[in-house]
Amino acid sequence: MIFVWGKKPVYTHAGYVADFCPVCHATRAFAVQRIGMAWHLYYVTVSKGELAGYQRTCCDCGTVLPLEVAHYRQLSAEQLPLAQLEQTTNPHLSIRHADALAAAARMREAPLLMDEGERRRQLDAALRLQADALDEYESATRLDREVWWAIGGAFAFCVVVLMALRQQAPENMDTGFIIAFFLSLGAVAWQLSQMGERFLQRELLPKLARALAPLQPRPVEIDEALERLRGQGRKLAQRIDSARITQFLR
Ligand SMILES: [Zn+2]
Repeated sequence: MIFVWGKKPVYTHAGYVADFCPVCHATRAFAVQRIGMAWHLYYVTVSKGELAGYQRTCCDCGTVLPLEVAHYRQLSAEQLPLAQLEQTTNPHLSIRHADALAAAARMREAPLLMDEGERRRQLDAALRLQADALDEYESATRLDREVWWAIGGAFAFCVVVLMALRQQAPENMDTGFIIAFFLSLGAVAWQLSQMGERFLQRELLPKLARALAPLQPRPVEIDEALERLRGQGRKLAQRIDSARITQFLR
């Protein structure tokens, strides 16, 4: 019998705060999650775990960012209307994020009148945020639904093949089962290999496009920004190019 056990992060809802979202370029409501590290047996946990930190998830775009509880006056149990939520949880938000809010306003009103340096900073910041998200995604061992379906399908396929062989051709049971097993393994491996690509397509690129849209960047500006990112050795720069980003910007 193999025991699978260890520690894994457990996320529990802890309330709401108002804060600046760098993807929406605006003040937004965020749901707060407490992160606990709990013992698991076969990935089943029974406690919230020892406190390891907090994170906040934008209620509009789903961007996840680290959160320092001490920055807020309190967490709100309810998702109040935004102005009220700001007053209750983060009354100094407009002072703390004055620069970012002013830049966001300039970007919305006249993005092409922003100076080169500022456009570059906005582009770099948007890409860096998603480069961090990719690193975070690749460091965690989460399986997406396609992989789970492949595992379930592979198991069912092996059972069906085994039962059919037992009835129809018991003399070929060993060979038949080995072929079925490796076919299933191949299907699971294929889905695993595609998982990173699905994350880019479903999660990362839509958020990157949302952050970049108000800036209306030219492909050459995106290329230069990706080049800078590549210079910093970030993985995201190897995975996407300006053509792909532009596709999502349309
Ligand atoms: Zn957002």
